[in-house]
Amino acid sequence: MSKAYQITDHHYDVVVVGAGGSGLRATLGSAEAGLKTACISKVFPTRSHTVAAQGGIGAALGNMGDDNWKWHMYDTVKGSDWLGDQDAIEYLCSNAPEAVIELEEYGMPFSRTDDGKIYQRPFGGHLTDNGEGAPAMRACAAADRTGHALLHTLYQQSLKHNVEFFIEYFVLDLVMDKDGNCKGVVAWCLEDGTIHRFLSHQTILATGGYGRAYFSSTSAHICTGDGSAMALRQNLPLSDMEFIQFHPTGVYGAGVLITEGARGEGGYLTNSDGERFMERYAPNAKDLASRDVVSRAMTIEVNENRGCGENADHVLLHLEHIDADTLHKRLPGISETAKIFAGVDLTKEPIPVLPTVHYNMGGIPTNHRTEVLRPTEDNPDNICEGLLAVGEAACVSVHGANRLGTNSLIDLVVFGKASSITAKEKIKPNSKPVDIDSSNLDPILDRFDKIRFNKGDSSTGEVRTSMQKVMQEKCAVFRTDELISKGIEEFNQIESSMDNIDVKDKSMIFNTDLTESLELHNLMAQSKVTLYSALNRTESRGAHAREDHQERDDSNWLVHSLSWLDNNGEVKMGKRPVHMNTLTNHVQPIPPKKRVY
Ligand SMILES: Cc1cc2nc3c(=O)[nH]c(=O)nc-3n(C[C@H](O)[C@H](O)[C@H](O)COP(=O)(O)OP(=O)(O)OC[C@H]3O[C@@H](n4cnc5c(N)ncnc54)[C@H](O)[C@@H]3O)c2cc1C
Repeated sequence: MSKAYQITDHHYDVVVVGAGGSGLRATLGSAEAGLKTACISKVFPTRSHTVAAQGGIGAALGNMGDDNWKWHMYDTVKGSDWLGDQDAIEYLCSNAPEAVIELEEYGMPFSRTDDGKIYQRPFGGHLTDNGEGAPAMRACAAADRTGHALLHTLYQQSLKHNVEFFIEYFVLDLVMDKDGNCKGVVAWCLEDGTIHRFLSHQTILATGGYGRAYFSSTSAHICTGDGSAMALRQNLPLSDMEFIQFHPTGVYGAGVLITEGARGEGGYLTNSDGERFMERYAPNAKDLASRDVVSRAMTIEVNENRGCGENADHVLLHLEHIDADTLHKRLPGISETAKIFAGVDLTKEPIPVLPTVHYNMGGIPTNHRTEVLRPTEDNPDNICEGLLAVGEAACVSVHGANRLGTNSLIDLVVFGKASSITAKEKIKPNSKPVDIDSSNLDPILDRFDKIRFNKGDSSTGEVRTSMQKVMQEKCAVFRTDELISKGIEEFNQIESSMDNIDVKDKSMIFNTDLTESLELHNLMAQSKVTLYSALNRTESRGAHAREDHQERDDSNWLVHSLSWLDNNGEVKMGKRPVHMNTLTNHVQPIPPKKRVY
């Protein structure tokens, strides 16, 4: 049936899939290096989820108090519960100040201090003096719309260069040669229904996270992790998929985010007794402990009947004690969010909040040069040629078992740029076009047709809701073997109904029924490996809290988990060592110790 499609070929040095913060930074860097670059996005670039980022971008500029990139590194390693690769974390934190100044020079409209410097606020888990000192003022912010400012700046800069954008093109799959090296992608143009093959020397996946695998998530509906699912389909593993971040302050009911910057500006949480309960769980950092710690504390408060409201099922976030002018100046966005989604005037009353899925620490494993890993028995750091990955889609791994707030935006720009440096090292501008026969198109289009023409009696929406509920209930803040096993059982039932999905609209033009179905297939693949990864890791570390294995177990589990999904839907698990070494001798490795805040 695939013969029915007319295919248009395109040739580039670099093809970037995704136009969020990481994709645009990769695109801009590649274009600046003189490489012929295409950027493909399923939505208009400035609608990517990065636009929703609120609180800040982390870098030890020290504009508003003592700071140092080595303290940032210490906090990130500790935040990761020692699962982050220390060479990559060193690369992130030592390059962060320059990356933020670069954004400033590109024209990003940061908030300012009275003397004109970039404004910085405290954020959870960011401290001074290797975790011993006061909260660090490290989150560089543009009010509470930092992602918006960042994304627009990068998009405008990309337009200044000779980047070719392919907007509203949905990438279906990777094109691989017979040796398993990546040679580009195949995409469907949503606007006119045509199919395109983009051949390139380097393909950079910047497709974001898969927050929509869960029922209540702060992520946009487009966050379906398509690139990671494409990697799985090429028999590449994903790493650390059990680590799902729950953000403590999603608005109760709606799930939309109230930035951690709200607590950075002095906000605090209370239970039904009016108690500031975080003082019991994290005596030092209190409400600014890292996210996994605060989310667990909130869940325990609710489980032990100290929840608020009619159903005693949430807690309260207080900002009403903060001066209204400061709220207006520093947190204008969440003032609106609280009004619209909770019906609350936050200058007068607290906001009802509940932990909500927010970020995926796991993803496509890469090294600090952003090269995608295809680990083998003999070489855990073996790479897949031609393929790079950045942003939330990737697992570098700088966030390990738990990401600190503000560390994603900085990850996007530092590693987005790193991917363009790697691409530049590997290819000369305007290299000879990639030459590959078209036999590998058939399986991609056969899969597409199978989904498009499938007959059955269930809808994408129904199956998606069932999947999201299983993930929300069975792979939540607290987990046990029994709970996850039950989740896998229910998941298998849902998986079998995938063959019954009838895509009603068979057309090729702006067919949202078909795109959502393709996205659901991608979500299902990632949900499956998430469940198996969560079952497999029999310890508690960072965001993965097993009630049946409550301690961190460094002797068995100080390793990245790897998960493969074969063509028959079987999951295979494996491991990869954590890089405990640093990149240079500017800093010493940070040995594991107990993680307390
Ligand atoms: C509400 C919210 C607030 C946040 N606040 C902060 C914060 O203050 N600080 C912080 O550090 N982090 C924050 N985060 C996290 C951070 O914003 C995200 O992790 C980050 O923006 C992800 O960027 P990305 O470039 O990886 O992907 P995204 O911005 O998600 O972009 C993905 C891109 O891939 C494209 N794409 C995906 N699939 C396909 C396909 N099949 N074909 C073609 N294109 C495709 C999309 O069109 C899009 O352009 C926040 C997250 C949320 C949800």
